[in-house]
Amino acid sequence: EARSRGRNELELFSEELEQRTKSAADLELGIRLALDNDLFRLAYQPKYNLSDNSLQSFEVLIRWFHPKWGPVSPSRFIPFAEANGLIVQIGRLVLEEACRQWREWTDFGLKIPTMAINISPLQLASLGFKDVLLNTLKTFSVPASAIELEITEGAALSHTKEQMELILALHDEGFSLAIDDFGTGYSSLSQLSSLPASTLKIDRAFVSKITDSSSESVIEAIITLGHSLGMKIVAEGVETELQRDFLKNKGCDIAQGFWYSRPLSAEKMRSALLPD
Ligand code: C2E
Ligand code: MG
Ligand code: MG
Ligand code: MG
Repeated sequence: EARSRGRNELELFSEELEQRTKSAADLELGIRLALDNDLFRLAYQPKYNLSDNSLQSFEVLIRWFHPKWGPVSPSRFIPFAEANGLIVQIGRLVLEEACRQWREWTDFGLKIPTMAINISPLQLASLGFKDVLLNTLKTFSVPASAIELEITEGAALSHTKEQMELILALHDEGFSLAIDDFGTGYSSLSQLSSLPASTLKIDRAFVSKITDSSSESVIEAIITLGHSLGMKIVAEGVETELQRDFLKNKGCDIAQGFWYSRPLSAEKMRSALLPD
């Protein structure tokens, strides 16, 4: 149904469409061809301050249009690319294009809020990740302070000593760190407080169940926990006014979701960045 509206390229994709991406071999070849032929694109989803509805930051989200299959959802191919290692190449491409875009917008005179980039666990653990990151920023003269790295709860908290040192080093370079999909993992309070993260993102699964009182109490607990550790709380997947009002009343800081904005093309994101 999204397809028929003709503006769907950046939206989520139907299950039915997903079925067409058949075997693992197909998918792997597809990703390789997409890397070689520059078929990946980026979308940008704004995040808003719940207090005054101002633009707080935006998240970079990868998009893939397969010539035959049509759009393939990242929730399908990112876990797959994570399993076969192609995520490292995909991750480089995302970093590069996001930084190039940041530079273009900045040269155009736009003031850009924090740009959040998803970093997959394998990418984070890959050899030379920090150098790739810093070199890409340098190429496009993007300061580390402009970037927030979104790392899933599992990756951030199941840390080895090396992983923890890397995260601390990234923090020292000036990057902000957000714990993505929070509430789905099994992190302990002590693990959480040992991380230099400034943001917790409440997983969409909880937000979508607002009106369900057990989910509501989880959200309240996450907000209280995050705030007590000095973190800002982002709710992802905010789709209704009721959800937004609930989150705002509970003191959540930032909201991201279809109720505010779908992920946007670069062109539309640019308009969203224009001063009023
Ligand atoms: P995520 O990082 O948790 O990103 C948020 C996802 O929620 C995005 O899905 C976004 O389009 C979707 N979303 C936002 N608001 C709403 C809403 O109101 N309702 C619903 N139903 N969905 C909403 P998307 O773009 O399909 O990405 C899925 C996941 O794929 C991401 O989850 C992230 O884990 C991964 N991903 C996407 N882009 C990248 C990337 O560039 N690199 C890496 N490593 N992972 C990525
Ligand atoms: Mg994310
Ligand atoms: Mg998330
Ligand atoms: Mg999520």
